[in-house]
Amino acid sequence: MTSASSRPSPVGSTRRRCDEGVGRVELKQATFGLESAEGRVPGVQPPARRPLKIFAFDPSLRRSAGNLAIVEVANEPELNRGPEGRLVRVVDYDAAKDAWYPPVNLDQPDILMQRGLDPSDSDPRFHQQMVYAVVMKVIENFERALGRPFRWRGTSKLTVLPHAFEGENAFYHPETRSLHFGYFTADPQDPGPNLPGQTIFTCLSHDIVAHEATHAIVDRLRDYFNAPTNPDVLAFHEGLADIVAIFQHFSFPEVLRHEIRATRADISQPGALLRLAQQFGYATGSGRALREVNDTGGAPPEPGLYQHALEPHDRGSILVAAVFDAFFRIYRNRIRDFVRAATGGSGILPEGELQADLVTLTTKEAADAAQDVLTMCLRAFEYLPPVDVTFGDYLRAIVTADFELNPRDEFERRASFIDAFRARGIFAPSVSSLAEEALRLDRPAELDTVSIPPDMITDVLASQFDFFQEGVHHRRRALDPMGLADFARTNAEALQLDPDRKIQVEGFHPSFHVDENGQLLVELVARWVQTYPPGDPERIEVGGVVLRAGTTAVFAADGTVRYVAARPLPGKHLTYDTHRDLATSRVKSFKAYVDDLDERDPIRIWADNKYHAQRMTRRASFAAAHRGQPSWRRPAHA
Ligand SMILES: [Zn+2]
Repeated sequence: MTSASSRPSPVGSTRRRCDEGVGRVELKQATFGLESAEGRVPGVQPPARRPLKIFAFDPSLRRSAGNLAIVEVANEPELNRGPEGRLVRVVDYDAAKDAWYPPVNLDQPDILMQRGLDPSDSDPRFHQQMVYAVVMKVIENFERALGRPFRWRGTSKLTVLPHAFEGENAFYHPETRSLHFGYFTADPQDPGPNLPGQTIFTCLSHDIVAHEATHAIVDRLRDYFNAPTNPDVLAFHEGLADIVAIFQHFSFPEVLRHEIRATRADISQPGALLRLAQQFGYATGSGRALREVNDTGGAPPEPGLYQHALEPHDRGSILVAAVFDAFFRIYRNRIRDFVRAATGGSGILPEGELQADLVTLTTKEAADAAQDVLTMCLRAFEYLPPVDVTFGDYLRAIVTADFELNPRDEFERRASFIDAFRARGIFAPSVSSLAEEALRLDRPAELDTVSIPPDMITDVLASQFDFFQEGVHHRRRALDPMGLADFARTNAEALQLDPDRKIQVEGFHPSFHVDENGQLLVELVARWVQTYPPGDPERIEVGGVVLRAGTTAVFAADGTVRYVAARPLPGKHLTYDTHRDLATSRVKSFKAYVDDLDERDPIRIWADNKYHAQRMTRRASFAAAHRGQPSWRRPAHA
């Protein structure tokens, strides 16, 4: 036998074991990818994904319906105790008790071997693992849809406090970029499936964690989506947060299979899949889940609701219902062919249990459809104006973004969305009809021959690729916002911006997708915002919230303009009637919205001038929204 000790080995323990005369087999196992006595031994690649156990819903469902789930998240090369990775830092400090809970080390072999700690109400380390896994899952869903790696501003991370305080609440705090999860005692009279007096941890609710994580990401992507300049802005935040949380239910295979069986493949029926934060709802004594998709009890949607629902969660539920309506139709279209094949052409399923193969097929199709529709919903972000968003803008963005990737529209995806929004009375501003062509964003004729210079394209593309090189992202070539500001000034009229006022570049980035023909689709997305300064006679500010102008332009990879989404402010720089009308109606609807809220605000009567001057900002606080009347505290439609 060749003596291994004759060759240097960089692995200390191997060297020792070789000297002790350990046989060849063990030597091979011990020296990964290094020169050993036998020559070079193939190394073992670190796995790309890390499996972690979570509650698919929350502890109240215990082991039923696939509630004990395993999710896979990226295996971060440097995951510290906490867990703390590249994007998320879990800090387990309990302010109410002034106590620190020891941080979990997910790389500990005993934990790795069992795919994360087992779900447990009482082990704070499992709580830390669960918030980390769910937040990462939400981030990955955004990355997939946006076609680029996500990051917080600079090198900052999202801080997550799983036991932040005692109380029936959970919220995102924008200033500190942190998620705060409360815990509380279940209602002693009507705790639902919980024990009276049992401690309920909001950090163990998949839905609450996913919802709050979405708030944080949306806030990162759009600075002004928490400025309530029309009733849809805050509702969009809330609705999207619910949409992400509920769609993630469909990524748990056992949960989905169970529901497909239980509903005989009609997943639009009420069930665990479509309920949001069940334990929280019951534990706070409401006798039901916090919110539910299609909460109309089977009745057709009421278009009038969109006219009068102002509370962000209530109004957000309208968006949720519309999106899921579209999803159900897309899913039915996707399974139609094989249901027909399985039923001898009738398409009508026989009585009784579904056949096992059909369950498998429909489960896969439902999971794919859910991922697909969620991706559609999140990708639309790129096509939204940067300020003052409405549900109508969102519909236009969904339709346009999807048209770019899937022009053939195989499963009536876009028609499903258009019909579902129309049924709820949601229309797009300044669009003459709800035909798909009319809804798609366009490009003003002045921009037909305009493009951004090639070096700006190279820079913005390079800005993403440098990002992948470990440790050098700080050397990334800084983008020159001046060039893009100049572009906006030169084309101000077409972009509906005022060339005589400061134009702020709010963002510029590429996104990479593969279209339905397998071709790489590269888009460059630029956003500009104009905030008229205090003292400017044209500045519109009410209750601490400023009405801004903002424009998003989507460029093709060659620098030509594809689409423009603009929210202008009135002024002589607007030369088209349609632009002027849009600007005037924005101002009118902002003021009407504030008046409407003032009328419904009981505090206002006793409030002082300070409150009055800042009342819109206060109404926009996430913490207050979730703590106040309609919130995590009680179901939206109660
Ligand atoms: Zn929320």
